[in-house]
Amino acid sequence: MSIPGRYGYKSKLRLSEHFYVKEFFVSEKRPDLVRKMYVYDPKKDLLFLLVTFILQPVRWAFGKTTILSGYRSPELNSAVEGWDDSDHMRGMAADIFCSEVSMEAVYLWAKTGIIKDRIGQCIWYPQKNFVHISLPTPKHRAEFFEL
Ligand SMILES: [Zn+2]
Repeated sequence: MSIPGRYGYKSKLRLSEHFYVKEFFVSEKRPDLVRKMYVYDPKKDLLFLLVTFILQPVRWAFGKTTILSGYRSPELNSAVEGWDDSDHMRGMAADIFCSEVSMEAVYLWAKTGIIKDRIGQCIWYPQKNFVHISLPTPKHRAEFFEL
């Protein structure tokens, strides 16, 4: 059932040219938990800002961009061993993979390109081959590193 102001893995809401809110409801490890998660209006708007200021520009620059981990409920965050107080639980972070370029190129562009001042954290995981990217918060601003 569709409840106004509530968004989940079945939501049809489009956030930008290439991104839908349902793409933030993903977990390879715990799809069962994803089906139980919802975001409500304020967090949905943060997902919109993340898409508008960061993910859509990445998509325009590098082509197909897949969200590997987007929004996380506290339960999902624990299950995937996310950081305590993860920005994924705020709807302000995503782990992404771009299939048409190296993730190093995406990381370096985030660090130096037009979106650099919009980044809270950008963490490149070379072994796992993805980039964590988030909006700024009082805690994280313009942090770029490799893990
Ligand atoms: Zn992450």
